[in-house]
Amino acid sequence: MLDYNAPDDLLKDKTILITGAGDGIGKQAALSFAEKGATIILLGRTVKKLEKVYDIIVENGWPEPAIVPLDMKGATVKHYQDMATTIESQFGKLDGLLQNASVLGHLEPVTQITEDIFDEVMKVNVKSQFFMTQALLPVLKKSDNASVIFTSSSVGSKGRAYWGTYAMSKFATEGMMEVLADEYANSSLRFNCINPGGTRTQMRAKAFPAENPETLKTPEDIMPLYLYLMGKDSVKENGQTFVAQPK
Ligand code: NDP
Repeated sequence: MLDYNAPDDLLKDKTILITGAGDGIGKQAALSFAEKGATIILLGRTVKKLEKVYDIIVENGWPEPAIVPLDMKGATVKHYQDMATTIESQFGKLDGLLQNASVLGHLEPVTQITEDIFDEVMKVNVKSQFFMTQALLPVLKKSDNASVIFTSSSVGSKGRAYWGTYAMSKFATEGMMEVLADEYANSSLRFNCINPGGTRTQMRAKAFPAENPETLKTPEDIMPLYLYLMGKDSVKENGQTFVAQPK
């Protein structure tokens, strides 16, 4: 999939919301989607980072993005419903949703997992993503062929020692995607997951502090798959988990 060659106008006139758009893979996705013509709604918890991404997009002459400062740890269902109403009134439709923001929590034995960490990881990685997606379904349905992409991990299909809460959250992500994909199989919507594979970001550095980041693919390297799944060439894909870096 890494050799997909996206046409320059792939995402022209599309409006796409990206969570965790201020850093790492989400930031790169915002830049790559904007470069292909999309208007990006940049959602994240650190406004300064979102503003930097905004500036890069505007400096390049790509469509002016919007910024939604939101901490998915504290957000309520009402926040997402209000956000959906605002998106509908400002843009009329939503063509894409990249559920990218996640937290790692702590890598630790199951006996050490505290309720606080369990709740935080499940809230950001699962509950918030579900209720945001639920609130956005009506405005996604206004698009001709909206694409919703969730972000999984290798530990989302095979559990691994010490990856406890994060791994459980990624299994839940895959389940959420499959339920939605099946329920909307006969609609204009499609739901898929991407497992990015080891990628040079802050989250990866936190998980593998001794690793040399130069040995890893960059977020830019894995963008062809993100572009493929967001654009019209993937309209028939539904309910799948795609691996950005196949072995
Ligand atoms: P980063 O930690 O680099 O970026 C994550 C982004 O999510 C940041 O912008 C962060 O905001 C945002 N975020 C975190 N918590 C919240 C919150 N409570 N509310 C709003 N935004 C939040 O991670 P990656 O880019 O590496 O990861 C992106 C996705 O890819 C994740 O889902 C991750 O699980 C997955 N993944 C990554 C792999 C890798 O090797 N990098 C491998 C497998 C999966 P802020 O900038 O403010 O911290």
